[in-house]
Amino acid sequence: MAIIDTEWLFQDLGGENNTDVVALHATAHHTPGNIPYLQKPGVVVLARPQVHMAGLAGFLDGFDASLRFSHYLDDPTALPTSAQLCKIAGQVCYMSFGPGRTPNIQAKRYFDNIKSSGHGSVLEHAHFSFLFYGISRSVTHELVRHRAGFGFSQLSQRYVSGKVLRFVERPEYCDDQQLHGQFVQRIERAATEYNALTNRLLEMQQAGIDILSAEARTDLRKKVQQSARSVLPNETEAPIVVTANVRAWRHFIEMRASSHAEIEIRELAVRVFLCLQKMEPILFDDYTLERLPDSTYIVNTPFPKV
Ligand SMILES: Cc1cc2nc3c(=O)[nH]c(=O)nc-3n(C[C@H](O)[C@H](O)[C@H](O)COP(=O)(O)OP(=O)(O)OC[C@H]3O[C@@H](n4cnc5c(N)ncnc54)[C@H](O)[C@@H]3O)c2cc1C
Repeated sequence: MAIIDTEWLFQDLGGENNTDVVALHATAHHTPGNIPYLQKPGVVVLARPQVHMAGLAGFLDGFDASLRFSHYLDDPTALPTSAQLCKIAGQVCYMSFGPGRTPNIQAKRYFDNIKSSGHGSVLEHAHFSFLFYGISRSVTHELVRHRAGFGFSQLSQRYVSGKVLRFVERPEYCDDQQLHGQFVQRIERAATEYNALTNRLLEMQQAGIDILSAEARTDLRKKVQQSARSVLPNETEAPIVVTANVRAWRHFIEMRASSHAEIEIRELAVRVFLCLQKMEPILFDDYTLERLPDSTYIVNTPFPKV
């Protein structure tokens, strides 16, 4: 199996990395009948930790001067914020603020020890929020099975209307003329059927049919759309915001960027890994990226489930 340079893949996938944006965007395409669809997951980092080191001074200064804890703030090596946050958390456990502590320059060794010994609870302090789009409802169905350390907010098919309806083409279909053609026909049919069903349900609602009645405007809309969505296929796009801590993201990557994972969620998990490693190289430096013979990617680590 070929080991792949993560920087190369990040660039190859069109990765953006600057102070304001870390993202791997995906392009929306349109069928001849103007139905929008995407072929790749879009991954956008919405939030990451900030660390306020100066706040530690009032704590460290309160200990005996001979311990020289105050020098902790003079460490000349700046770390990425999550590594710094998790290192502070770990060093509080042993009150390792004196000269004998592990300095930031040796942060890799510090985190290798945490990963290899499975003391991953310190990694729970750092949270990252992502927006995922260009992923299907099948992927989000698998994604939301992750519980520990995760928060989710997913597009409501009951609330939103057909105006934002988009679809996701599976990787197996994109380069095959027959399968791509069938996909195009299928989503055009699904969108047409969805709209026709919505219109019929609205007519019934306006005629006062009990099961579609409601007091509030929002509830009226939900009554229609919760029914009409029954014809939407698994390949309907399901944008979702996901927040998780570093320990949880590591577990997600290990489960979903593995060769056993389904291809579409694997494409997502590999992108999440690429973004996280870009922002926090030390916390994710134990992973290797590999290309399978089918040209898809997986991620491996000697330290699973820290
Ligand atoms: C290749 C693959 C195939 C799959 N196939 C199926 C399938 O056929 N059917 C199916 O239903 N699911 C399937 N799944 C989903 C899988 O069973 C898990 O639900 C999903 O991967 C989330 O994993 P998790 O529970 O380890 O993660 P999380 O929910 O994020 O939990 C992380 C860890 O916390 C601990 N934990 C979390 N909750 C509890 C708890 N309540 N009690 C004790 N410990 C807890 C566990 O150690 C767990 O591993 C599949 C997953 C993969 C990757």
